[in-house]
Amino acid sequence: MTLRRTSRRLADGREIIYFDDAPDAPPRTAVDSRPLGERIPAGHIRRDVLTGEWVAIAGHRQTRTFMPPKDECPLCPTGRGSVPSEIPDRDYDVVVFENRFPSFAPVAQEGAGTAYGLFEHAPALGRCEVVCFTSDHDASFASLPPHRVRTVVDAWADRTAELGAMDSVQQVFCFENRGPEIGVTLHHPHGQIYAYPFVPARSSALLGRARAHHERTGRLLGADVLAAELEAGERVVVDGEHWTAYVPYAARWPVEVHLAPRRDVPDLVALDDAERDDLARVYLDVLGRLDRYYVDEDGEPRTLPYIAAWHQAPAKVGRDVSRLHLQVFSILRSPTKLKYLAGSESGAGAWVNDVLPERIAARLREVGA
Ligand SMILES: [Zn+2]
Repeated sequence: MTLRRTSRRLADGREIIYFDDAPDAPPRTAVDSRPLGERIPAGHIRRDVLTGEWVAIAGHRQTRTFMPPKDECPLCPTGRGSVPSEIPDRDYDVVVFENRFPSFAPVAQEGAGTAYGLFEHAPALGRCEVVCFTSDHDASFASLPPHRVRTVVDAWADRTAELGAMDSVQQVFCFENRGPEIGVTLHHPHGQIYAYPFVPARSSALLGRARAHHERTGRLLGADVLAAELEAGERVVVDGEHWTAYVPYAARWPVEVHLAPRRDVPDLVALDDAERDDLARVYLDVLGRLDRYYVDEDGEPRTLPYIAAWHQAPAKVGRDVSRLHLQVFSILRSPTKLKYLAGSESGAGAWVNDVLPERIAARLREVGA
C-alpha cells in the first residue's frame, strides 16, 4: 500500500482519518476550531420481539443537516465555502470521519442493556462513519479515476478491520446512497460505514443460507453461485480478471447487479493488491453502464440513483462460510418512475420485480463503453 493514512481529531473528539493517494501529499495538520461542544452519545436499540430484529432508536437524527447550499457543504474542505466544514484541511483525497449524528456511537448515554418482560434494549454502541470519495463537490463515484477508487477500497478495508475488532461490533457495513431519490441529504460524493452491535437482518439471512449450504455440501454458497452464473452466462455483465459482475438470478430490484471476487474471501480486508485494482476497474465499468441504462425523451443518459451495499462476513461469527460480494441496485423502474416499496415489499417482505433479470443483464451488456 502506498497511500498515506493520517488520523486526527475533530473539535468534539470524533476521529477523522485522511487517506491520501500518495505518501508525498501535503501533511494533514489543520485544527478544527469550531465550537462544537460535546459529541453526541449513542442512543439505544430495541429488539422487535415479533421478528427478533433490532431497531436503532435515534431521535437526535431529525436535526441533521439536510441539503445545504454548496457553499455550506460540510464535506468540502474548509476554505472552499463560507463556513468551516467537517474537514479542517484545505484539501484531501479520501477522508473518513465519525458521523456527527450517528445511529451507533462508541460512547453510550445509558447504562448496560436490560430486559423487562418481553422487552429488551441495549445501548446503540458501534460507530457510524462518513467516507468522502473526493474533495470535488460536483464529482461522482463513477467519475473517479481508478487510482482514487483504489484508495477508497483501501479505506473501506482499513475501516472494516479496525471497526470489526471493536468489542461491541458484530457487523461492518460499507455502503453508498446515491441520488436524491434514495434520500441522500448531502450532494457531495460520499458513502457511509455502519458498525453495528448486532448482525443485521440481511447479513443474518445470508449467513443462515451459507451455513446450511456448507453443512450440506462442504462448499461455499457464494462460490457455487458465482460458478453457476459464469456457467449460465446469460446474466453475466462484466467478467474481469479477478471480479465478475452479474445480475442475480432472482433480482428483486428493477436494476440490480452483483460483483463477486473469483477467490473465496470473507471481506474487503482479505483482498490482495491485484484484486483491489481489478475491483476499481470492474466497478467503474459497471457504474458507467448504470448511468447509461436509461435515456430520457431527448436521448440523454439518465444519471441513475442507486444503493451500493457491501456484504461482508460478520465480524465475529460465520467467517469461514461467508463470501464477500457487492450488491448495487436502483429503485428507478423507468427514466421517470420510481419503484415504491409498497404493500407486498414493505408489509410482507415479499418482492415483486416487473423486470426479467435476463433483460436487465442484456441492457447492461448493451450499454458497455
Ligand atoms: Zn461539498
